[in-house]
Amino acid sequence: MKIFEGKVLIDGNWQDPESGETLPVMDPSDGSEYGRIARGSDADINSAVQAAQYSMDNEWGDTVPVERGRLLQKLSKLILDREVELTEMEARDVGKPLSQARIDVRACARYFEFYGGAADKIHGETIPYLEGYTVLTLREPHGVTGHIIPWNYPLQIIGRTIGGALTMGNACVLKPGEEASQSALMIGELARQAGFPPGVFNIIPGLGEEAGNALIHHPGVNHLSFTGSTEIGTLVQQAAAKNAVPVTLELGGKSPQLVFADSDLEEALPFLINASIQNCGQTCSAASRLIVENSIYEQLMSKLGERFEALLVGPAIQDLNCGPLISPGQKMRLEKYLNQVKADGLNISAEGKIVADAPTEGNYVKPMLIRDVPPEHVVAQEELFGPVLVAMPFTTEEEAINLANGTPYGLVSGIWTNDGARQFRIAKKIRSGQVFINNYGAGGGVELPFGGVKLSGHGREKGFEALLGFSVTKTIAIKHGL
Ligand code: NAD
Repeated sequence: MKIFEGKVLIDGNWQDPESGETLPVMDPSDGSEYGRIARGSDADINSAVQAAQYSMDNEWGDTVPVERGRLLQKLSKLILDREVELTEMEARDVGKPLSQARIDVRACARYFEFYGGAADKIHGETIPYLEGYTVLTLREPHGVTGHIIPWNYPLQIIGRTIGGALTMGNACVLKPGEEASQSALMIGELARQAGFPPGVFNIIPGLGEEAGNALIHHPGVNHLSFTGSTEIGTLVQQAAAKNAVPVTLELGGKSPQLVFADSDLEEALPFLINASIQNCGQTCSAASRLIVENSIYEQLMSKLGERFEALLVGPAIQDLNCGPLISPGQKMRLEKYLNQVKADGLNISAEGKIVADAPTEGNYVKPMLIRDVPPEHVVAQEELFGPVLVAMPFTTEEEAINLANGTPYGLVSGIWTNDGARQFRIAKKIRSGQVFINNYGAGGGVELPFGGVKLSGHGREKGFEALLGFSVTKTIAIKHGL
């Protein structure tokens, strides 16, 4: 049995949750239960916040930046040492094909490496002021930071949110997604082994409406970082407002890729497909809308159709194009949208295949290309969280920009064109936190600030910029006279 089975991590100790209750751990590839996680409650959150505060007031608060950096880098190394185990764990827990899970493990390690290197390189400023004064700023931690993350990319999101917060000297309380908490718990164990002082990194698994709700309302939490749906994100912001604490919201998306006739289609094709089906489409930054110049629309639909038909879906361990969806509930939600697609007579122009030996209890769905979708249709507006790409044509550049901006979200966008002036023109007019030109995602880039506008949220994680969000400026003005 794993050391963290059914446990919460408080003050460096794995212990039973106050309630003694646990929740099942399900394998989305075959529907079986293969373990238990703790069902954390407000009592556990309270103890975790107290432990975090104690560490801030004592050993962690006194740990110098270079030493924080070394601990983060040690954790990075421990993660890489356990790459095989973590890959298999994440693949099974999330239902992610093995090669995608491996990328997440390496990205997680890379975050701790990147932020470890940054820990002693963030500093304040001196400000020229009135005669007889010297003014300087310090960048200080918020104190106790609360982190709520979803189930779709636990490792990557822990790396960026916990990595950033610890770098700036905060002490963290993490509530992982109840559908996939295994890798979060494992990172907690590796952090213990790396030698972080007790109470610096606490983990309370459990339900959103219980442990999550307790964390966002706790008056001892000084900053909240939430990654998840827009619906819950707005609740988190309301809770943060009550305690007047800052909040970072990394929410959903309905990201577009714009394809112009002068682009290199062969180069674009793999990006157009992968960005829509990665993690079976359960990706906040999934490029789930395709906006294509009229003159190449038929040609692109035909090339995409061929490739969609060749896509294979099956158990995570088989490492195919797609694994299962995370849960039966998520599958039912997607099927509702697809029923609407059929009822409205939309054109499903290509579908992938589920392999014959995929267990019937797994949550499998076929990847799907739907063409000629009216921009106002629900499947062109809402985040489906499945491997579904909706395509629509455009005639003018202005129309393409309006379509790209025509949803309530603004997380990421992709532009495919070889016209240099157009690249910049459109990149500036598109309302999204990231814009990729002739690529999509730039390989993940832990160095690149990430976050949304509109209903995709606010604040930035990843890169150096995240470190500003995980710290607060203190201004010191000294009057020493002339
Ligand atoms: P979700 O909002 O249902 O849950 C996210 C987390 O919030 C979970 O840990 C959950 O337990 C917790 N939660 C639920 N109710 C809560 C409450 N009342 N109070 C406090 N916490 C609560 O989202 P999900 O289904 O787990 O994840 C999918 C969503 O996450 C999608 O919308 C996706 O786009 C988004 N997401 C965004 C990013 C990003 O960086 N922008 C990354 C990954 C996922």
